[in-house]
Formats: sequence, structure tokens, C-alpha cells
Amino acid sequence: MPDPAPKIVLDRVTKTYRTVKRRDTFWGRLLPQPRPQTVEVTALDELSFTIAEGRFVSIVGPSGCGKTTALRMMDGLIRADGGRVLVNGEQVTQPRPECGFIFQDFGLYPWRSVIDNVAFGLEIRGIGRTERYATAQANIDLVGLKGFEKTFPHQLSGGMQQRVGIARTLSVEPEILLMDEPFGALDALTRRVMQFELIRILSTRTGATSVFVTHDLDEALLLADTVIVMTARPGRIKRVIETGLGVGAERLEVDRKAEEVWDILRDEVLKTVVPAGMDPTARAS
Ligand code: ADP
Ligand code: MG
Repeated sequence: MPDPAPKIVLDRVTKTYRTVKRRDTFWGRLLPQPRPQTVEVTALDELSFTIAEGRFVSIVGPSGCGKTTALRMMDGLIRADGGRVLVNGEQVTQPRPECGFIFQDFGLYPWRSVIDNVAFGLEIRGIGRTERYATAQANIDLVGLKGFEKTFPHQLSGGMQQRVGIARTLSVEPEILLMDEPFGALDALTRRVMQFELIRILSTRTGATSVFVTHDLDEALLLADTVIVMTARPGRIKRVIETGLGVGAERLEVDRKAEEVWDILRDEVLKTVVPAGMDPTARAS
């Protein structure tokens, strides 16, 4: 069988952030500074990978290695300095309508009710009221929030708020789902429930391509068929692992595989958390 078409391609993508350093102060007064000092941070350095249509790919890597940057390049909200990002074979130069984004902090509008949050994407696409509420209702039902349509985000738990976030994104039927630590703000128990909920919800969207950024190796392995391990900043590929696990695999299998992934990732994480001069192996286990 031929390989499915590449849905997303990152081809030697580089990104450097430049920020103007804040001037030093003394007793609340700005100290003189001859010229503004810029600080450069290279987030990504020639990062390349391909994601085939219909795959579920998790990206793991140490904090600050450029995962969010890479994800935001796929939907066109961050521009690369060098290299190319292709979605559906076209170079990404502006926000892409085929991408839907699910945020760690849910990204809901506090002044909108659940149904108006879920219908938001359809509203900005100019879909009429009847159709947009019908689609929003179907997605609210799908994520298990029937009866909460008129509720406001602050009245919901974190897990429920993320259900709203998922329903809102699914309402516009994205071909590509980009998820940036979507369960990172949830407690461990809710998180576990939401992992299985996501599997259930996405089983209704079998054609979609998913990219899921997480710090949680178990979660990465439970959900994805491929795990991309990134290096510490500047982010590059350390390893691409085909998990070989079925969706919702047994916990024991997931735990065993998570140990393998941790063996690959450990050194990269230590680079970011162990102070210079300290023996990192002394603390690695
Ligand atoms: P991750 O999601 O893997 O934690 P990010 O992509 O958010 O990493 O960031 C990568 C690096 O780029 C970090 O060191 C971060 O501080 C820096 N960075 C991210 N966004 C900006 C920005 N808008 N301005 C300056 N630096 C940024
Ligand atoms: Mg991030």
C-alpha cells in the first residue's frame, strides 16, 4: 500500500525570537543605556519532519525547546525565519483554515455562554444562526456537555471547560487538529479521564490528522501512533518513534514504552534543569 500523502511538512525550519532587553532600574529609576540591547533566542534550528494524513503524532521535548513555536507555524500564526512549512502541499504564509487549535488554557470567551463559545468559529466563518447552533449543539452533545449550553465558562470545572474548547474546535470540522498541552492545566485524575474522552471523541473523526504536544509520556503513547522526541533548545528532532501500540493500549505496555522514551529524552531534559557544573547522571533515574 502506498504511503498516505504528507499532510504537514516542516522542512529545515528555523526561528529566532528577538526581544529588546528591559532597561535596568535602580530605586525605581531607569539606568542610562547607550542603545537598546536585543536578546536573541533561537527556538528552532533546521527542524524537519513530515506528518502523513490521518496520523496522530505526539511531540515531546523539554520546556522551551520550541514545541509551541513549531505547532503555531503549522497553522500560520508564527512565521519561520528560514525553511518551509507545507500544509496540504502548500506553503503556509497565513492562517490556515484546515487547522483547528486546542489550547492549554482553553481559550474560551468568559462573556459567551457554552453554546456561543462553541459556535464562535462558525460565526466568524459567516454560517447562519440556525445552522451554527445545530452544529454547535451536535458537538456539545458529542463532548458530553448536553444541558450546559447556557452556562458560562467560570461556572464549569477545568475538564468541562476543555470539553467546550474541543467542541468549539471540532465545530469547524478541521482536517488538522493542533493541540498544545490541552490537558496541562487539569489535575491528574481529570487528565486521565480526558485522555480517554479524547480517544472517544476523535473516533468520530477518523480522517483527521492530529498533532499533540505534551510533557506527559504516558499520554503521548496512549494517544499517538508516532512520538516525535525533540532536543533541548534549539529544538531539533532527537528521535521519531512509531509506538506500535494500538489506540488506548494497555497501561502496562504504555508504561514499558514510556521508559524507553524517557531513556531517549532524559539527557535533553537534564540539559535544561541541571545547573552547569553539576553531575547530571547523579540525579538521573
Ligand atoms: P515550548 O512550547 O517547547 O515550551 P516555545 O515554542 O514556547 O517552547 O518557546 C521556545 C523558546 O522561544 C523559549 O525559550 C521561549 O522563551 C522563546 N519564545 C517563545 N515565544 C517567544 C516570544 N514571543 N518572544 C521571545 N521569545 C519567545
Ligand atoms: Mg509550549
